[in-house]
Amino acid sequence: MLRFEPTRTAALERLNDFLPKAGRDYAAKRNYDLPGHPHVSALSPYIRHRAMTEAEVLEATLARFAPSTAEKFIQEVYWRTYWKGWLELRPEVWDRYQHELDETVAILDNDRSLRRAWKDACDGETGIDCFDYWANQLTDTGYMHNHARMWFASIWIFTLRLPWVLGADFFLRHLLDGDPASNTLGWRWVGGIQTRGRVYAAKADNITRYTEGRFKPQGLERDPQPLNDAPFDPPQAVPTTDPAATGKRTAVLLHWEDLSPTTLMRREHEHVVVLKPFGQGTPFDVSERVLSFRTQLTEDAAKRYGAANAPLLLSSDLAPWAERHRIEQFVTAYAPVGPIATELAQAERELSKRDVTLKRQVRAFDSGAWPFATKGFFKFKEKIPTLLKAHQSQSAA
Ligand SMILES: Cc1cc2nc3c(=O)[nH]c(=O)nc-3n(C[C@H](O)[C@H](O)[C@H](O)COP(=O)(O)OP(=O)(O)OC[C@H]3O[C@@H](n4cnc5c(N)ncnc54)[C@H](O)[C@@H]3O)c2cc1C
Repeated sequence: MLRFEPTRTAALERLNDFLPKAGRDYAAKRNYDLPGHPHVSALSPYIRHRAMTEAEVLEATLARFAPSTAEKFIQEVYWRTYWKGWLELRPEVWDRYQHELDETVAILDNDRSLRRAWKDACDGETGIDCFDYWANQLTDTGYMHNHARMWFASIWIFTLRLPWVLGADFFLRHLLDGDPASNTLGWRWVGGIQTRGRVYAAKADNITRYTEGRFKPQGLERDPQPLNDAPFDPPQAVPTTDPAATGKRTAVLLHWEDLSPTTLMRREHEHVVVLKPFGQGTPFDVSERVLSFRTQLTEDAAKRYGAANAPLLLSSDLAPWAERHRIEQFVTAYAPVGPIATELAQAERELSKRDVTLKRQVRAFDSGAWPFATKGFFKFKEKIPTLLKAHQSQSAA
């Protein structure tokens, strides 16, 4: 069974083991969902929390392969960047998802048949063998192969006719890589509201082929129709770094959206605090597995930053803590759209009442790429060679 040790060391080992396969093997076989997941990296739980950054993964890949040989793998890593940028430009899509989820969860209280169908799907008791297998795999391991996520979401929406927001929430509670951008937009994409009018249809023969005959599902919806979604506002500007002021009493704030502090904020300040892995973007509890993985990965990052004993605070504790320690500014990694960004925005209001500022640092990797996430991935993809070059020259500088 796939296991994810909650340390950066484990991430580096996994990257090292996978690298020989990041070239032609990945290009040819990445779509096969096989036991043990031999043809994909399974790095997402680490990349998602930035215990290992996308930049590091790309650098290691390019140290081994020509960009053309590893093109597919590089593109997949940039899918994540693209989704993050896309949501960053349109935060209302996350707010809308949260709102629709709350409304749907409220309906569950009164609609017993929906509640039962939802529970059966989450418990892997629908009678569709591949679907039930993936549901159990997810709750048992915290991981699901990309192709299986696509099939699963498609069956959830079009065959089981369950609300997509409940499916996205099920993923977010159990995936170790659960991410507001990749998850919400992945589900929207399957449902035909991300690339408007184009759904992803799970087909039985495709499932049989890419699971090497392990599953032969029957009765899947053959003519899925796209879901509806209201138009949204034009894209907003991408965030930029808010430089820390010099000469102020400063504390570094670590949080689980970016657990590579050593490559973002020099360890020059005496005070470091760690945000408790609390806000999760779901009205339910995230799984124990996710909570414990996230908590331990955060502790691991604090240790690497030389701050193993840093106080663990809720966002609501930040302002009183700052007052007690006469802190004038916090420096922190920019938290992209999602629960931590929401929490920090709330904390900032309390901090500002005490004249304490929150200085968010955006990685050059993100600020360079996000502005291109205005249209579809295929437009974004054209920019990848330029983005890679820009990144390489920044790292060399
Ligand atoms: C409905 C749905 C929900 C998803 N939810 C999430 C999520 O919550 N978190 C998440 O990280 N990914 C999500 N994905 C994207 C993708 O399935 C996972 O990133 C991938 O399966 C992770 O496995 P891996 O590390 O073995 O990937 P690999 O194939 O080895 O790819 C390497 C890295 O590239 C990135 N990546 C690969 N494919 C994608 C993709 N399609 N979109 C975005 N990034 C990608 C990941 O960071 C991944 O670790 C979702 C996809 C779908 C269809």
